[in-house]
Parts: sequence; structure tokens; C-alpha cells
Amino acid sequence: MNLVLLGPPGAGKGTLAARLVEEFGLVHLSTGDILREEVARGSKLGKLAEDYMDRGELVPDEVILGMVQERVDGETDGFLFDGFPRTIAQAEGLERILPVHLVVYLDLPEEEVVRRLSARRVCKQCGANYNLLTQPPGVPGKCDRCGGELYQRPDDREEVIRNRFRVYLEQSAPLVGYYEKKGLLRRVDASLSPDEIFRKVAEVLRG
Ligand SMILES: [Zn+2]
Repeated sequence: MNLVLLGPPGAGKGTLAARLVEEFGLVHLSTGDILREEVARGSKLGKLAEDYMDRGELVPDEVILGMVQERVDGETDGFLFDGFPRTIAQAEGLERILPVHLVVYLDLPEEEVVRRLSARRVCKQCGANYNLLTQPPGVPGKCDRCGGELYQRPDDREEVIRNRFRVYLEQSAPLVGYYEKKGLLRRVDASLSPDEIFRKVAEVLRG
């Protein structure tokens, strides 16, 4: 089984991915992580990607697909893709590498995305992450680890979140339609608890 996870920021893709990996032994491929690793390693594709990023440009689909192909390394089963594909061209490229069996779309309304993401806080000193809703510090405004001051990243302010959410919907709509037409898309209500979300997706996976 090969699975693609889609959903806006704050929908809980990371949490779900970690549990699916644990329960089903899938290999988790996040293009964000792959890109960072390849750049850090200074591989040929990593250097190529870095050139684009340094110029503030998007890394082209062929470069991303090349990295995915290297990771997959001839295997055709047991992968969980997260943050990829982003475009129809990437989705078509992925199909040339291996078959996609299921696409899970974690559906979350804008207001809930704003509520979740605007609750994030970071420690100024050690960089530890908190969430006032799900993972609050013991003492308000102070880091549990080092006592440093907690702050809100500019990225996590409401207007920025709303903008990111709209950009996400706009960019992902064609992809969602593409997988819907193929009958591969399953929408899951991401306002449910992480346990319930996992249970729903696991049911589908177990067929
Ligand atoms: Zn700290």
C-alpha cells in the first residue's frame, strides 16, 4: 500500500504520519525533510535544489521527483508521502515511479486552522515548541526546559495563517480534484481527536 497525505497546515499530518508509520510499518517520505537532508549532504540534486532556493524560486518538479526516486530505490510498496505531490505534474511523475493506492485528505475549516496555529509558542532561548491548546507550558509564558520567554512566531499570527490557508486551498484544489476523479481520495474530518482520525484512516487501510 502506498499512501499520500494531504491537508492544510495545522490539520495534524505529522501526528497521523507518525502513527501510521508505527502501526503499518510504512516508510515516511516528507519532501521537506528530504530536501533539507539532500541540501545538508551536498548531493548533486541537493546542490541543484539549493540554487533554486537561494534565488527564491520553487524547486522544479523534476528535481523533487529525482529525489523521491532515489529514496524509493526501486521499491514499489509501503510508502507514506507527506507534503508531496504538490502539483498535478508531481502526481503524474509519482505514478511513473510507483502506484498510489490511497489519498487521505485531512479536512479542517479555516477557523479551526487559525485557532490551532495561533496557539503555537516557541522558547526564545532553546527553541522548544509549545501549543497553548494541546501542549501548554507549566508556567504561562515560560519554557519548561530552560525558563526562557515564550513568543509567537510572526508566521503564526492570524492574518499570516489565514493567508497560508487560502494559498494552500488554492494550490491543492487541482490535486484534490485529480485524485477524486481517480477514486482514490478519502476525506477525513481533521477536527476529530488524533485517536479518532487514526482509527478512521486505519479502518480504510485495513480495508
Ligand atoms: Zn527553553
